[in-house]
Formats: sequence, structure tokens, C-alpha cells
Amino acid sequence: MRAACTVVLGFCAMAAKKPAGNTQFPAREILAQLRARERSMLQLLGEFVRSESFSYDKKAVDRFGAMVAREWKRRGAAVRVLKNKDRGNNLRIELHAIAAKSQGRILVLGHLDTVYRMGTISKTPFRVSAGRAWGPGTFDMKGGIALALYAVDALRALRIPVLKNLVFLWTSDEEIGSAASRATIESEARKSDAVLVLEPAFGAEGKLKTQRKGVGGVDLVVTGKSAHAGIDPEKGVNAVHELALQIERLMRLNDRKRGITVQTTVIEGGTVSNVVPETARAEVDIRFTHLADGDRLQRKIHSLKSALKGASLQIAGGVNRPPLERTPAVAALFAKAQALSAEMGLKLGEASTGGGSDGNFTAAIGVPTLDGLGCVGDGAHSPHEHVVIRALPERAALIAGLLATL
Ligand SMILES: [Zn+2]
Repeated sequence: MRAACTVVLGFCAMAAKKPAGNTQFPAREILAQLRARERSMLQLLGEFVRSESFSYDKKAVDRFGAMVAREWKRRGAAVRVLKNKDRGNNLRIELHAIAAKSQGRILVLGHLDTVYRMGTISKTPFRVSAGRAWGPGTFDMKGGIALALYAVDALRALRIPVLKNLVFLWTSDEEIGSAASRATIESEARKSDAVLVLEPAFGAEGKLKTQRKGVGGVDLVVTGKSAHAGIDPEKGVNAVHELALQIERLMRLNDRKRGITVQTTVIEGGTVSNVVPETARAEVDIRFTHLADGDRLQRKIHSLKSALKGASLQIAGGVNRPPLERTPAVAALFAKAQALSAEMGLKLGEASTGGGSDGNFTAAIGVPTLDGLGCVGDGAHSPHEHVVIRALPERAALIAGLLATL
């Protein structure tokens, strides 16, 4: 029996290209390996996209989850289905690096669900044209899940050792706030040294997201009193009027310089045109760059008082996702990714975004998080959603590099 067998993600590799923990990752070879598999990646992406997975349809999300689980099992990974009662099940996949010698762990995060109602695929089918792959969920983020599979394949094909254990967590309800997965995400993150989030990249250049705003949502319900609008309006309390005054107050909470946005995005109220409306309601979207601002905004909004005599306010909701702040540890992760890209002859930039992801949760508990590592493309949550095909191998190679060198 040979003693010095290095286990490379489950494979015994006597002839590993480089010693474990190296900084000279064979970046160009990995990229070439993945470029040769571009068609295969595209085919798998097509299969993923055709298996619709609307967040609110548990059966559909579970069906897609089973498809993803099969792919990982074929690669010898340990797959655990973490059951959810109402939402789709989460998938936890673990790949052991070097048995009994692993030095820490990397968590890779993504989601199985999409924002698209069932049947969307028949209106906007998966298709390939003009160097892009189109379809619901291509970009956000079934492409990201495909990238992870091919990143692991490439590491194995080139027998590149990975020192850390790798845990891939594919959740089921990211698009609807992650209530069913948040605790799992946070507990997995706490056991990890770094979190890589395979959400879509930023912009046409495929920038990584090193800063994300925190996100919240507030429901404001106004109760007034109805009366005839023409005969005796003074006997009523106009809930729509009250709501308008509150919206004006909410607008004043905006502070662009501090990165705070407060926007009333949905309103409804009243019944018919000649009745003073008794009720009105609004949905308010809040975003903030600093955690403390989120708490402050929440307190301010909850302490709003009615302006009209006889009107009352009911306020529910608040901060949903804390911000992903660009800490020195996040910057260091990005620098690593940038260096890997440079070795491949590619440029990599970083960006901040107003949109939240599950990376917000992991960053907020202090685990260095690098987001936007998924596909390059555009049109998330729209009929024009697509990914750039040429960039698929590039992104998979970057992910492979991070998995092997972090
Ligand atoms: Zn997403």
C-alpha cells in the first residue's frame, strides 16, 4: 500500500499538480479545461432552467433540488436534504478534501428557487442566441449552481488538491426573504472560514459584489373613518390623506450620502369615489449601508404618529437583511480573486449594490463573504434574463481557484 496518497476531493491523486495550499494555482490550465466543457455546461444549465422552481411552489423547488442532488451524488458528494415544511427543501453538499487532515472549511452559498411563476418557461423558453443563454433563472441563479459543479469537476480532472472541506448550501427561499433557511445559513457560516456566494455578477464586466446594502420592508396600515365625501366629509377621517402625509415623512428619511433609501412602493386605499376612505395601506422598501442605520430607521418608522385627528397607524415589519459591509477581510478575499483572475489573463473588478442576498446574513455575523461570483449576464427577474456563454468557463475557473487556494 502506498502511504503518500493525497485525496483530491474524493479521488486519490499521486500526481497532484502542485502541493496543497499553494499560491501558484494552475489558473490557465483550469481555464482551458473548463473552456473545453462549455457546451456541456450549457446543456446542464438548460436542464436546470427547464425544471421550474418558483419559490412558493414547494413541489417544484423540491423537484429541481432532486435534480441538483443527483448531479452532486454522481460526483460522489455527500448530499443531505434539509427538509422544510412549507418551503422547498434545502440541500447541503459536503466534499471532504484530505481525509482527517482538513484545515477548515469553505461555505458556498446559492439558491434553488426563482421568482418566476410556474409556466413561465413556456412563454420564455431556454434558448441560446447571440452568445447568450436565455431563460428564467439562467442568471439568478441556476447558472451559479452549474458553475460550482464544473469548478469541482475541473479540480478533479487536473488533480488539484483542496485542503479545506467544502460545503455547498443550496437554499429554497432566497427570493422571498430566506425565512426558512436563515438559521441554517448562519449556523453553516459560523463553522466556515469564508463564504462564497454564487449570486449573479455585477454589470457586463462581471464585477464581484463586496458591499451590499441592508434591506427591510415595512407595512403601514392607516385606519380613519368613512363618511359621505360630498355631504358631510367633516364626519369622516380620510385615511388616504393621512397616508399621503406619512409618505411625505418617510421620504424625508432618505439620505443618499449615508446610503439610506426609503421608498413607498405600493399603496392602496379607499372604496368608491364619493366615500371618505376608512382604510389605506402602503408598503415601504428600506435600504441602508451601515447596520446601525437599519436599526435607527426601524425605530423611527415604528415611532411615526398619526397627523390627522382620529386616524390611527399600524406599522409592521422592519429590517430583513443586514448589510454586507466591505470589511478588510472581505477586501482581502476580493484581492485573492482578483489575483487569480489576473493569472488567467482576466480583469476583475468589484462593486457595491443596493440588492440584498443571503451573503448579507453571513457577512453580518462576521464571516468574510465574497458575493457575485456567479454568472455574468443581465435581466434578473425579467423576461430578458440571460447569461453570457463565453464567461461561463471563466467564472467556473475563478470559483475553482478560490476553492483550491483559500
Ligand atoms: Zn439570487
